[in-house]
Amino acid sequence: MNWLVDLKEFLFPRYCKVCRRRLVRCEQHLCISCLVDLPRTHYERNPNNLLMQHFIEWPEVERATAYFFYYKEGRYSSLIHHLKYHDHPEVGTYLGRIAATELKMSDFFNGVDLIVPVPLSKKRCRQRGYNQCDYIARGISEVIGVPMCSSCVERVVDTETQTHKGRIERWRNTEGIFQVKEAEILKGKHVLIVDDVSTTGATVHACISALLTVPGVRVSIFVLAKAV
Ligand SMILES: [Zn+2]
Repeated sequence: MNWLVDLKEFLFPRYCKVCRRRLVRCEQHLCISCLVDLPRTHYERNPNNLLMQHFIEWPEVERATAYFFYYKEGRYSSLIHHLKYHDHPEVGTYLGRIAATELKMSDFFNGVDLIVPVPLSKKRCRQRGYNQCDYIARGISEVIGVPMCSSCVERVVDTETQTHKGRIERWRNTEGIFQVKEAEILKGKHVLIVDDVSTTGATVHACISALLTVPGVRVSIFVLAKAV
């Protein structure tokens, strides 16, 4: 029923979330030109990349990558704003899906048994109505066929917004903010932690600290956007 799709496009036009150009039928959220130009990190090609260096002290951490670079005033920052502040969590699933499709061509997901999105505190989740990391993880899970568990880890401390804090202060501020809830599910697993935006890696660091209290856990890290 192509004419119905055309009618829907006519009545409810969709626009690229980056350049605002009108999308054509086969495009979702991003036009093809913005998708091609997305500033990908290609960290998966370098096992000792800048993100991985934050976790080098743990032999249990196998791989780390970020999908694209996030510049605060850059044109792609609107993607993160839609995902986090404009009530468009489906952008996360979409980006998770395309990132996973590209990363699948490398060995990045090899051996991963379970996907764990970085949890929000209950309070923050209530305010926003959703955890954006769940949506990113869902997109990855669909593509690589690995289950996700949103209840395995809980955020027990709601740290204040850390945007303006220095690096040392951020790290100090994240100690002990996560707790493992379902150790049995995690035992012996290679867990892929999924986060939305990472600046210093402090939140992911705290999440790994909690996960490594479970025997036999190994960890890889996927961050949607690496802030620079
Ligand atoms: Zn565009």
